[in-house]
Amino acid sequence: MSEKALALVVRAIDWSETSRIATLWTRELGKVRALAKGGRRLGSNFESALDLLTVCRIVLLRKSSGSLDLLTEAQVVERFPRLRIDLAAFYAGCYIAELLADWTEDDDPHPKIFDEACAALRVLGDPPRATGLRLARFELVLLEELGYRPVFDRCAVCAAGVADNAAAAFSPSVGGMVCAKCRPGRRDSRPLGPNTRRAFQALAESDDAWRRDWPLAVQKELRLLLGEYVTYVRGRRPRLLGYVEKLSLPGHRGTPADSGGGDREPPSGQREDQAR
Ligand SMILES: [Zn+2]
Repeated sequence: MSEKALALVVRAIDWSETSRIATLWTRELGKVRALAKGGRRLGSNFESALDLLTVCRIVLLRKSSGSLDLLTEAQVVERFPRLRIDLAAFYAGCYIAELLADWTEDDDPHPKIFDEACAALRVLGDPPRATGLRLARFELVLLEELGYRPVFDRCAVCAAGVADNAAAAFSPSVGGMVCAKCRPGRRDSRPLGPNTRRAFQALAESDDAWRRDWPLAVQKELRLLLGEYVTYVRGRRPRLLGYVEKLSLPGHRGTPADSGGGDREPPSGQREDQAR
């Protein structure tokens, strides 16, 4: 049976001299894996539609379970040009692709995840300092859709409310915030500042809170806690998480020359964490 879908290419590997195997995250069918015969040949039906992080309209011949679907057509609908000039945005895009390729089930559609991934890929890198925050918004939508939304509006252990400025911590294994009373003995917990808690809530609830000028210290704490949570829920650390964590370090400004140097000290007078 042949089916049409709108697909984001989240992985593509060469297979045999002329073919490729693509992992496609589609809006209609969820994740599918398909063989593109002739996909490596110039002028084939696929042209460059199977490049990583390209959105294309596909026609798919579904196979019985256990074998690869056959891709019969793929036409480019959208590319994300900024990912080719901004290395940090490119790594963030690859991280999105990694999460979608490795962390979601086949044939389990979530149109909201597809739309959110495309929305993120469209704006990553604009402005460069918001790349980590935009990515966090995507991760929070993904977590929610997969049933792992972290709890920030109460203690995830005793369900008591936590006052805005009261001490709190975040524990991946309990799935969110823990109050001061419940924290002892939670060895994976880390302090959760009131502003970081506010940022988490705003990012989870609104699709433009990432544009706000959150202090750099908040961005760093948020990336650290979110990275640990994603790692815990997924059962292993995503390969690209190290690059992603550098996005909110001082000195990072998202240009190719800068992106490898997240460890460097920023030039004096340019510290962004004074933007409070
Ligand atoms: Zn508690």
